[in-house]
Amino acid sequence: MPVDARSAAYHEAGHAVMAWHLRRSFGRVTIAVSEAVGGTVTPGPEPSWWYDDPLPSNANVERYMRDRIMIGWAGRLAQERLGIDDEATLDEGFAYDLRTIALHAGEMTGSPDEAEAYLEWLRLRTRNALYQPIVWPCVEAVADALVERGTLSARTVRAICTGTRERLFAEHYARVRKTS
Ligand SMILES: [Zn+2]
Repeated sequence: MPVDARSAAYHEAGHAVMAWHLRRSFGRVTIAVSEAVGGTVTPGPEPSWWYDDPLPSNANVERYMRDRIMIGWAGRLAQERLGIDDEATLDEGFAYDLRTIALHAGEMTGSPDEAEAYLEWLRLRTRNALYQPIVWPCVEAVADALVERGTLSARTVRAICTGTRERLFAEHYARVRKTS
């Protein structure tokens, strides 16, 4: 299997699984696009306030924007966890994500240094969420399916994630029963 297909699959699986984990809607996930892009996760429908300027100030909006940024971070962080450490490869997939999440961070904060701190906080928050033992195996399972099939519907991604989680819980309880 070519390294870049696997790397692209983990990147897109990271976005998709993070969206699933945060219960945000998304469309299909694919690595079957041009080499320059590497892959995409189609975002779900935008909320009604999306184009308001300034954005309304309330907890729902803040949560939504945080989730969008976390979903944005998750692609690169999945590749890092896979062991991709080549900065050029990481930056290639991340360039568009970074533009988008930096824009969101700018909208949610009052100065460039606050925006930078906010982005860094959300990077760490995403890493903690994504690398959890009940989340990371979902990324691996979705990435494997992406390498095999190229494109997955959101429904398929959700089925893979819930199936993986159920298997993990079953294994966990089998272990607990054995030791008690
Ligand atoms: Zn991405």
